[in-house]
Amino acid sequence: MPWKSRWQIDIPTVSLPTYLFGAQDATLSDQPIILDAEQPSYYLSHQTYREWSKRLAAGLKARGFKDGDRLLLYSGNTIFFPTVLMGTVMAGGIFSGANPTYVARELAYQLQDTEAKFLITSEGSLQTALEAAQSIGYPRDRIFTFDGGYATFDGKGQPSQGIQHWTSLLAPPSSASSYRWKEFSSPAEAHQTVVLNYSSGTTGVPKGVEITHLNYVANCTQTDHVASLDPDHAAADARARGLSMLPMYHAYGQTVHCVSAPRRAIPVYVMQKFDFARMLAHIQTYRITALTLVPPIVVALAKRPEARLFDLSSVESAGCGAAPLGREPQVEFESLWPQGQVNLKQGWGMTEITCSACGMEPTAVAADATVGELNPNIEARIVGEEGEEVGVGARGEFWVRGPNVMKGYWRKPEATAETLTADGWLKTGDVAYRDERGFVYIVDRKKELIKVKGNQVAPAELEALLLDHPAVQDAAVVGVTINGEELPRAYVALQADQTATPREIADWLAQKVARHKRLAGGVKFVDAIPKNPSGKILRKALRDLAKTEVGDG
Ligand code: AMP
Repeated sequence: MPWKSRWQIDIPTVSLPTYLFGAQDATLSDQPIILDAEQPSYYLSHQTYREWSKRLAAGLKARGFKDGDRLLLYSGNTIFFPTVLMGTVMAGGIFSGANPTYVARELAYQLQDTEAKFLITSEGSLQTALEAAQSIGYPRDRIFTFDGGYATFDGKGQPSQGIQHWTSLLAPPSSASSYRWKEFSSPAEAHQTVVLNYSSGTTGVPKGVEITHLNYVANCTQTDHVASLDPDHAAADARARGLSMLPMYHAYGQTVHCVSAPRRAIPVYVMQKFDFARMLAHIQTYRITALTLVPPIVVALAKRPEARLFDLSSVESAGCGAAPLGREPQVEFESLWPQGQVNLKQGWGMTEITCSACGMEPTAVAADATVGELNPNIEARIVGEEGEEVGVGARGEFWVRGPNVMKGYWRKPEATAETLTADGWLKTGDVAYRDERGFVYIVDRKKELIKVKGNQVAPAELEALLLDHPAVQDAAVVGVTINGEELPRAYVALQADQTATPREIADWLAQKVARHKRLAGGVKFVDAIPKNPSGKILRKALRDLAKTEVGDG
């Protein structure tokens, strides 16, 4: 039988901007809430976050941006990243963020797939953006450069290589006050898409995950409800300070740091790029209280000696998600503080559910590797190999249903139908079991997806690229865990008359993909890729083989 969250709550039917800022003219705080970690005198308050977003919305409209049009942002985190997202939504459009480590081919794919009307890119990524644009004939006058905040604040944004600065998209401050984002005229409008976050899901290449107003508002309301169960919640929120080092183009960093924290007026220091030592320094300097983490950062904090050289005593809470984390690093991580001060809680999430569906009450103590219980209004079931539902303690595919489950994949009805049942169940592709308390344990992945340092790698994408290599006849890519890190490994069958070395194949692919997609788990030549009679790659067999060949065992 499906089981349900312990909590049922009301989800407001309001637009995402209304959820975040309240009424259009509500008086908002001018206290800093989105600050640059390196130069904290550059910051946005709740008030100025709304004002800059309105300026962008009014400016986009003036340039002919229509309801449902897309805007693509290709940039690392900056204090204005959330503004670009929210300004796009306030204009009635759909925001999409691209991984700033993407090479031109990868960016071109997302640009084409979203059919974005405008592309905003950081100055450091402009060259790659121009290359991507040229490869698909995307007009240069629809590209804008984006700085880390300084030229924007100082009003000194200059064109670069003939490409306009993004401030030329902004309406003057006077028009911000009169701009009105559209309130819903019927509850059905809550189902309009506001964000396309890219994910390969259970199979195939990356796809745009359609996240609606309702999805976003629901997911933040669900996690806020869980946070509010802490009797010390109001005081904890009042003294809370966060650090944004997870990328805002991804569901996790985006939901927590562009929407949830600002709505609760929690100051967040934004790191433009991740650096372990700078992260430690920022935790010390800004007396960060809440850490939002992924497993490789937890492991680094647990193992690297530098972590013990900084004063981390301000930390009160730590959450981790996006990939599996074993119990041992969790315990080691907690030993950075006096016993009982910081209890690391895992959550479970997925781009297709906005951000998260499982977590733990603030006062509960995580004593094992559980990802917690179901968030409010979430239902789940565990489905066995034959499609039968299995009970407590038995493993199977984890299915979830709730108001934060995506609308579907952007312009991919078949992929949507494979992943979402007609009655709203999302087949996650994760293998899990639940205990008698309803706590969930993720034990394996039956989907193709590989996660490298929390980043998605879609085997289908790498396989398609490998097939373009003149010496390759067939290829399959699977994940293998080496020294605790999951890495992509390729099995390659060569053309009969061709020669190549595994190194050549790996280097060749490395030129065509972002760093985290490189074949760091190795390349192995085989006579043939094992497949079932209908031609599907036997991934489980290859994963088992990889484990015995190079994996942690
Ligand atoms: P993404 O859509 O990039 O957030 O990736 C979602 C996938 O990451 C999930 O389907 C899981 O395979 C994995 N994942 C997320 N959180 C956890 C977790 N706490 N433990 C294990 N795997 C996780």
